[in-house]
Amino acid sequence: MIKAVLFDLDGTLLNRDLSVREFICDQYHRFYRFLGHISKEKYVSKFIELDCRGYVWKDKVYEQLVNEFNIHTITPEQLLEDYITQFKNSCVPYPNLIEMLEMLKDNNMKLGMITNGKGQFQMDNVVALGIEKYFDAILISEWEGCKKPEPQIFEKALRKLNVSASESLFVGDHPDNDVKAAENAGMKGIWKRDEYWGKIEADYIINDLSEIPIILKEAGKMESELLKIFDDKRNPIGVASREEVHKKGFWHETFQCWFVSKEEEKEYILLQKRSSQKKDYPNLLDITSAGHLLATETVQDGIREIKEEIGIDVSFNELISLGIFDYCVTREELIDKEIAHVFLYKSNHSLENFVLQEEEVSGMVKIELDAFYEFWLGKKEFVRIKGFDIDKDGNKVEINRLACKEDFVPHKNLYYETIIRWIYNAL
Ligand SMILES: [Mg+2]
Repeated sequence: MIKAVLFDLDGTLLNRDLSVREFICDQYHRFYRFLGHISKEKYVSKFIELDCRGYVWKDKVYEQLVNEFNIHTITPEQLLEDYITQFKNSCVPYPNLIEMLEMLKDNNMKLGMITNGKGQFQMDNVVALGIEKYFDAILISEWEGCKKPEPQIFEKALRKLNVSASESLFVGDHPDNDVKAAENAGMKGIWKRDEYWGKIEADYIINDLSEIPIILKEAGKMESELLKIFDDKRNPIGVASREEVHKKGFWHETFQCWFVSKEEEKEYILLQKRSSQKKDYPNLLDITSAGHLLATETVQDGIREIKEEIGIDVSFNELISLGIFDYCVTREELIDKEIAHVFLYKSNHSLENFVLQEEEVSGMVKIELDAFYEFWLGKKEFVRIKGFDIDKDGNKVEINRLACKEDFVPHKNLYYETIIRWIYNAL
């Protein structure tokens, strides 16, 4: 299962050829009074030649440029300083960059970047492209003290992303520093074709960034996200990807299971705390276990979600069906129309027995059912939650505090009230 995609920057996400050309033309114009005795074409083509596709650092390039063109009124150091501070203003992305990153993020993919170069300079370019927020780890060789193709920098990135090499894809334009090096580190290599290198061998070859989600689908990761869709009268009308379902607002099925437990004659309701890594509602308390039913699944298969998220083995006939709730939420770009199959499970497990799926769930709490009901009826402002949280170092931390509405996923009040009434009726 692929969990992470890592990228090279120059020539992979950043169209370096175009960016360099744009920058050097711009530099020529800004320093025309010092460079005017050289034709623009000559200045630009000499720079590009000396730059050697970015593999020569610019102190050498400008030194030679100043020598060859007999430039006396501006120093190589001044031109270099200009390059360092101004290049970011000429960064050109490859087509479909943001769309591709969004799509991977929508599929809960972890994203990393490994680039050789100067720390602040490369980071400025990442920021200029507006993509730093998509990345869980960005490694720049100067700051890391190692560089591609050394295996250390790949291992470091995988550790930061908390994934193994076999769960990762690496995308780059350099046959050795990117593709071969990543494959040697145990990752799958995707070569972003660059005619300069002729023909090379790689696990996958792409011409455009938009092909990456397709490769992931073929590798079996995103295919699992196809959902059955329904019209407003609940007639099935086909299947669609999870992103499409939420973008276009198709009705689709979800599975929700609420756990209750009884201790000393008191009923408790159990809630999960969503992981801080979740894109939606990180760190908030939510339904004990819930998830989408995939196109290939029946409602019975929903128990998979319970095992995956909170590590409890439950058979379907132990569940009490509470009903189907038409759950509809619209916010920003997302239209969520769920046909939610809601179940109750009377649990004998102590909270200690729950084994949490790190990327999804970071804690479990219990709340007295009566207090929970009054809280959602608006009769109480706070409710006591008791349980545990797993901190970022993997240690269990006890929770015993009052929670307010902001601690819970903002389902509508009507949803909470209805569900709790259903639970009372079933107990
Ligand atoms: Mg590159």
